[in-house]
Amino acid sequence: MTNRAVIIGAGQGGFQAAMSLRQEGYAGVITLIGAEPGLPYQRPPLSKAYLKSGEADKLTLRPASFFEKNAVDLHHSTTVDAIDRKAQVVRAGGRDFAYDHLILATGTRNLRPPIPGLDRALDLRSLRDAARLRAELDRPRRVAVIGGGFIGLEFAAVARALGHHVTVAEAAERLMARVLSPEMSARFLDMHRSMGTVVHLGQPVTEVTADGIALADGTCIAADLLLLAAGVVPNTELARDAGLTVENGIVVDAMLSTSDPAISALGDCAVFPDPRTGQPVRLESVQAATDHARAIARRLVHGARDAYAAVPWFWSDQSDWKLQIAGLAGPGDSAHQDENGAVWRFDGEVLTAVETINDAKTHMKVRRLMAQSEGQPILRSSLAAEAGDLIA
Ligand SMILES: Cc1cc2nc3c(=O)[nH]c(=O)nc-3n(C[C@H](O)[C@H](O)[C@H](O)COP(=O)(O)OP(=O)(O)OC[C@H]3O[C@@H](n4cnc5c(N)ncnc54)[C@H](O)[C@@H]3O)c2cc1C
Repeated sequence: MTNRAVIIGAGQGGFQAAMSLRQEGYAGVITLIGAEPGLPYQRPPLSKAYLKSGEADKLTLRPASFFEKNAVDLHHSTTVDAIDRKAQVVRAGGRDFAYDHLILATGTRNLRPPIPGLDRALDLRSLRDAARLRAELDRPRRVAVIGGGFIGLEFAAVARALGHHVTVAEAAERLMARVLSPEMSARFLDMHRSMGTVVHLGQPVTEVTADGIALADGTCIAADLLLLAAGVVPNTELARDAGLTVENGIVVDAMLSTSDPAISALGDCAVFPDPRTGQPVRLESVQAATDHARAIARRLVHGARDAYAAVPWFWSDQSDWKLQIAGLAGPGDSAHQDENGAVWRFDGEVLTAVETINDAKTHMKVRRLMAQSEGQPILRSSLAAEAGDLIA
């Protein structure tokens, strides 16, 4: 066991790493360093409940007393500038923090494509971003959302429910195309349009003008509030400058260790081998960040050497629809919609994911089934027997 654990990034995964280390019995010094001000908080409500309620207190993951009681040395508003791997030290704001083990939990930042005028568009990543957007929604607005992924659509649903005029512009041919089956994309498109949101598909934004946005086909959309929600880039610069392997994320092995055994990486910034396919994957989800953190803590405290194998799952709340995804489908996976509306995804004969709307029971059953399979493929042919009445 190491004596000094330093965690860079005090978001969902960094916080969980500190908490799990203590829960597993880590007796050394834990230092948690985060660039953002204040206590670690959860991001998912920023595009959901918080936009309506404005209750920032409810976002905090634990009160200040938790950090004192558990002897977690939290340095907020502190950006780490460099990692010296030879000296096993991180440098932040003129101070040095020595480590025996370092955990990188630096997350992502918003992707800002090179579109003229884009600096007028707001982001939705941090509590500060969300507070600004909330204030903007206090008066009638013509809202344009650039990007029809989870965050853009969640924001669009809230803005529309508050009575604003809302347009979504998505460059791909369908909504949430990166993560969802065409069947589910179509259902969400209908739902958003039935709320009165205007949705443009297959048309990249080419310019942000004083009056709104212009699309590739020449369409001009009048807007006085613009949200950019066109994806993220992982924060990998620290790792790259320290000589760690970086490819669309900080590369880790099946035990979430980087190319330096004294450094682990987790959450949104980490590329790890997908337990099912072995292919490198980077997930942007609370599940991945927290399960990675728990696995790293078990390794550091107990020396656990088992490969990371947690079942991935995701959710998104849009209007009164809760989308849940158990598993991880590839873009080419087939889709079979059952009579209850769940969409089952297959890679050939192997079940990869199940998408549901407002059906927590099926979602949980599938997650259990996937966990029980312990990495063995769940075949379409065996599904009726294994999943009982799940698939129609
Ligand atoms: C609006 C919104 C809605 C979301 N909704 C959902 C949802 O419904 N479901 C879901 O599963 N996921 C959702 N997510 C994604 C989820 O929040 C992330 O997957 C999760 O926060 C990842 O945790 P993380 O610890 O990897 O990164 P983060 O929580 O992003 O934390 C990274 C932290 O590292 C800090 N940092 C970076 N570089 C440095 C440095 N050099 N020095 C110090 N600190 C640094 C950053 O400031 C940041 O605070 C949402 C995200 C957003 C923005």
